[in-house]
Order: sequence, then structure tokens, then C-alpha cells
Amino acid sequence: TNEAFARIEKLDGDVQAFLALNKEKAIAQAEEMDQVPFEQRGPLFGLPIGVKDNIVTEGLETTCASKILEGFMPIYDATVVKKLRDAGMITVGKLNMDEFAMGSSNENSAFKTTKNPWNLDHVPGGSSGASAASVAAGEVPFSLGSDTGGSIRQPAAYCGVVGMKPTYGRVSRFGLVAFASSLDQIGPITRNVYDNALLLEAIAGVDANDSTSADVPVPNYVASLNGDIKGLRIAVPKEFLGEGVGEAARNSVLEALEVLKGLGATVEEVSLPHSKYALAAYYILSSSEASSNLSRFDGIRYGFRAEGVKNLMELYKETRAQGFGDEVKRRIMLGTYSLSAGTYDAYYKKAQQVRTLIKEDYDKVFENYDVIVGPTAPTPAFKVGENIDDPMTMYANDILTIPINLAGVPAISIPCGFENGLPLGLQIIGKHFDEETIYRTAFAYE
Ligand code: GLN
Repeated sequence: TNEAFARIEKLDGDVQAFLALNKEKAIAQAEEMDQVPFEQRGPLFGLPIGVKDNIVTEGLETTCASKILEGFMPIYDATVVKKLRDAGMITVGKLNMDEFAMGSSNENSAFKTTKNPWNLDHVPGGSSGASAASVAAGEVPFSLGSDTGGSIRQPAAYCGVVGMKPTYGRVSRFGLVAFASSLDQIGPITRNVYDNALLLEAIAGVDANDSTSADVPVPNYVASLNGDIKGLRIAVPKEFLGEGVGEAARNSVLEALEVLKGLGATVEEVSLPHSKYALAAYYILSSSEASSNLSRFDGIRYGFRAEGVKNLMELYKETRAQGFGDEVKRRIMLGTYSLSAGTYDAYYKKAQQVRTLIKEDYDKVFENYDVIVGPTAPTPAFKVGENIDDPMTMYANDILTIPINLAGVPAISIPCGFENGLPLGLQIIGKHFDEETIYRTAFAYE
């Protein structure tokens, strides 16, 4: 824990990953834990971790990187935070993000832009950009992120670390500030596959406080890391290596497939024909859910409240006008429009139907294959400022991660190469609740 704070002190002026530090309490906790006898210590005991700032932490400011939550002190811990404590881990601080997890670069934070530790002129990805950057910089060996449309995997790819989006329902969302409730999942970001498997095991499982968490037994993931993938059936969707995917990203995946073949896996091309509609469906559905979820930020209950207003309606309006950033407002408007009486059938309902088709694409491939493999993102990390005025290009960054959230299946990103000194990610997608096979494959490759 001391080492983590020393690294943060030394590097965070450049990386800008942390929004809040928990120094005094963390060190006191670590000192107290020094007294615990060795035989009572689990594998994660005493290890420091950073937590994305949309996961609530009792007595530690939680802002979702939004002005509207500035000063908000949660009065309880998210289930995952409790589980970290049960595992003996020490929360050292809260990590920057795109405001309310809306974005792909961390540039939408109301407070600061986190930088990519491999090259400070580049973004770390998003929205869990700081969760990935803090691990890549060696500030913390573990972090938690959240992934609604790629927000764990894309920054993990951009920062050269390992990030897992578990199956929808695998990890409790209790205490995760909701963006799009039917897509959000919390997951681990780590330096390697082994650490990732350990951390997922610690945070996974059914929770009485989250009715969408699934009552499915949590396996011993580490036990599946035996390097044996003989006979593994790998599917490679042609849509994942086609137009829009950079040459370096494509080649690094093709090389990785050769490695996996060499280890005894078989590789075949498949098609996920509805992939091209995923981006459009995602932005309708996630924005619709966000417009509803974010209605609770009204200036009365949490954080920031506008001053100098004449009546209640003005208080709501001014608080939201001043408290939310541009991207959040864009999504609330898009979502409200999609859910309106005259447009619901054409947008929201249609997007739900497309979502079913996408899920069926995945179900069909998984009838004959164990995992699906492709790139995590079409390119390595772009430059800070490069896409900021162009939401469509920014949205296209998630073209390879978004369908996985719509299908609800789990997927990991692991490092698989470089382009111009910046890391590239390999995405391995699995069947519902089969994170085990993903880890086994990732570990064998790594
Ligand atoms: N970048 C995507 C978005 O802006 C995904 C965000 C996420 O997964 N939280 O919505």
C-alpha cells in the first residue's frame, strides 16, 4: 500500500488517473492487517486496488467524474467494494472516467483528462481509462472498471493490460451508479490473466441486493489456467477483420491465431451478420436507459445544487444545465426522444428487436465453437483532442466491443502487439457464464 501511494505520488502528475485518494484510511487498514496471521490470508490479502469513480465507496467521495455529483459522499459500499474488503484488499483511491461512463477517451471527465502511460500525448481509452492507465503505469496492480459498451476492454487494449467484462449478471451492480442498467457490468483490470482470474473470483456471485445478478456457481478460475487448449474450437467473425479495422490490429490478431493454432486449437471463419447494426442499436438503447437513470440527479438528493434560483422547476433545470457535461446532455436528449410516444416504435422498440437478432447471432456461433476471437479495437490509442469534436468517429471506436454487451456474453481484452509503440488488444469472447474458457485461452496465449 505504501508502494502504491509512492508510485501515485511520483507518476500521477503525468498520468492523472486518480480523482480521490484514501491515504489515511488505507494505511491504517494495511497496518491493522499486518497483525493477521499468515494462515488466514487469502491470495489477494493486503494488495492495493483502485476503484472506478462510478462505484460507491462509503465515506469516500464518488462523483462519476461529473460536476453534478461533486461532494457526494456515499453512505454505503457497493457490493463489490465489500467483497474486496472481505478478500483483504485495500482501496487506495477513486479513478477518473468519462462522465457517467459515457465516452471512449476520458476526455469527457468534468475534472481532468487521464493520459496513456505509453505515450502521454495519447488517450488511455474509456470510459474506464484511468482504471487501465493506473495499472499500466504500475500505480496499482489491480483496478475495477465498468463496461456498458466496451469501457473495460477498449482502455485495457489501449493501455496494454488485461480487462474482463464478465457475463451480464455475473457481478453484482449494487452500488454501481447506473448508466444503462441492462448492459452495465463491473469487471477487473490487471497486469496479467492470472491476477484477473483471481480478482473476478473475489467479486463475482449472486447478490440479494441486485435482482439481475445470477445464481450461478462461481468456479475456481485459477484452477482452469493450465495452458491446455488442445481441441479448442475458435471462431473468427469475418465482420471483425473487415473494413474499418486497421492493418496492424488485423495482423496482430492473425498472428495470435497462429499461436493458438500451434497450441492445438482449431480456427474457422464465421459470420455475425447483424454486427453492422450494433452501434446504432446500442446508442438508442443505452441512451434511453441513461435518460431514465439520470433523472434522479435533480439537485435535491445528491451532490451539486444550483444557486440563485426562484422556484423548484428552475432549481431542477439550472442544476442539470450546469451540472451535466455536453456528452451526457446529448445522450439524455437522444434517449428521451427515442422513448417518446411518437418515436418509441421506430427507435426504442426497433433497437430492442435488433438486440435480439444480435444475441441470436452469438447463440448460433456458440453452438459449434468454444470462443470467438477478434481485435478489441480497430486502432491503437488516438491522440488527446483528435476525436473530441466528432462524436461519430468517437462512437465507432467501440464497434468491436458493443455487440458483446448487447448479447450479454463475457469477453476479455489481452495485449497482443504494438503499433507505433502503442499497445493493441486481442478480444476473446465466451459463452454465457463461461469466463473459465476465456481465461484458459487467454492464459495459454499469454
Ligand atoms: N464508449 C461507449 C459509450 O460511450 C461505451 C461506454 C461504456 O462501456 N461505459 O457509451
